[in-house]
Amino acid sequence: MPVTRALFDQVMVPNYNPAAMIPVRGEGSRVWDQDGREYVDFAGGIAVSCLGHCHPVMVNALTEQANKLWHLSNVLTNEPALRLAKKLTDATFAERVYYANSGAEANEAALKLARRWALEVHGENKQEIIAFHKGFHGRTFFTVTVGGQPAYSDGFGPKPGGVQHVEFNNLESLAAVMSDKTCAVMIEPLQGEGGVVPGNEAFLKGVRELCDQHQALLIFDEVQTGFGRTGTLYAYEQTGVTPDILTTAKALGGGFPIGAMLTTAAIAAHLKPGTHGSTYGGNPLACAVSEAVMSVVNTKEVLDGVKQREQWFRDALAKINDKYQVFKEVRGMGLLLGAELNDKFKGKARDFLNAGADEGVMVLVAGMDVIRFTPSLIISETDIAQGMARFEQAVAKVVAAHA
Ligand SMILES: *Cc1c(COP(=O)(O)O)cnc(C)c1O
Repeated sequence: MPVTRALFDQVMVPNYNPAAMIPVRGEGSRVWDQDGREYVDFAGGIAVSCLGHCHPVMVNALTEQANKLWHLSNVLTNEPALRLAKKLTDATFAERVYYANSGAEANEAALKLARRWALEVHGENKQEIIAFHKGFHGRTFFTVTVGGQPAYSDGFGPKPGGVQHVEFNNLESLAAVMSDKTCAVMIEPLQGEGGVVPGNEAFLKGVRELCDQHQALLIFDEVQTGFGRTGTLYAYEQTGVTPDILTTAKALGGGFPIGAMLTTAAIAAHLKPGTHGSTYGGNPLACAVSEAVMSVVNTKEVLDGVKQREQWFRDALAKINDKYQVFKEVRGMGLLLGAELNDKFKGKARDFLNAGADEGVMVLVAGMDVIRFTPSLIISETDIAQGMARFEQAVAKVVAAHA
């Protein structure tokens, strides 16, 4: 039986529409498809593959743990889970860790914890969750409802209640709806899916102050910005704001599914035995890989290297733009960068993605107007140069087609 893209339509639920080619192998920031065609990977599995593909440190950790112990369930704890939790709490504001298997699940835990905390500390009249238009927090029904794109949450029947949305980077719009009934504010310090939009510093500080004023919890969703992506282990370190709860996933496992919610001991105390859980959460394989990824990512060399690579990306994109005038601006932090198309190419981000794939470079979009780059944090200068040369070819083709 040939395994082709056509088989996808025969056997898969059609909620995705993947590209025609099927990758079969990856190494570093290069990927090969079934026909042996090679691609430079500027997508990194959507901000997941922070050490590229098949990094030896990850392969070793995975195979070593695979020969020891795969799974126990949370009736028992395990060494990799405890070691990783110690490292995460040592490296952040947090004192307690809850493990999940994805970003959505980490956020689901954060929202449930916030509601339970409010109930136990402040009583029944403090349930409002406030989040932001264009925010993205995952696809479970609670998290997708808190996310700010109704298109993703409509059409599934009654939504979880007590959720409001306000404008990102607009403090007055938040202040207008906050009250002592506010239980938590959930925010991405830099909106990823919503178009690679950094929260400005004054805004984020203001959000923190409003939360303090109304005794509401501040939840930072760092599923996309976290684990070195912006040049610090977590983006909050650069904002001057410390959240009460932080969620992390994507790069946390470097390609192995894992998510986590980090918080303080006082807040964590409200998830008492039996209140929440996950069969796979804290699985030894996932935690062993994540621990190994962290040993590489959370080093000065790699984090400083992110800043250097950001500059290489920005320089290359500026050069392309000088020649072809396609971008309105390039924005983002570290290796979470978005090139917003100018009016002439508005709505055409996908054309650039497709043209890129034809030229042998994988990029992402964030909405219809932004081309997004979330490569490996250790992508080489050569890979960036070759990928950008291919991307320039792609831009030339799209521009020619629209002339
Ligand atoms: C990807 C993402 C999620 C969802 O993560 P999953 O692992 O797909 O559930 C949540 N929040 C943000 C900010 C994300 O980028």
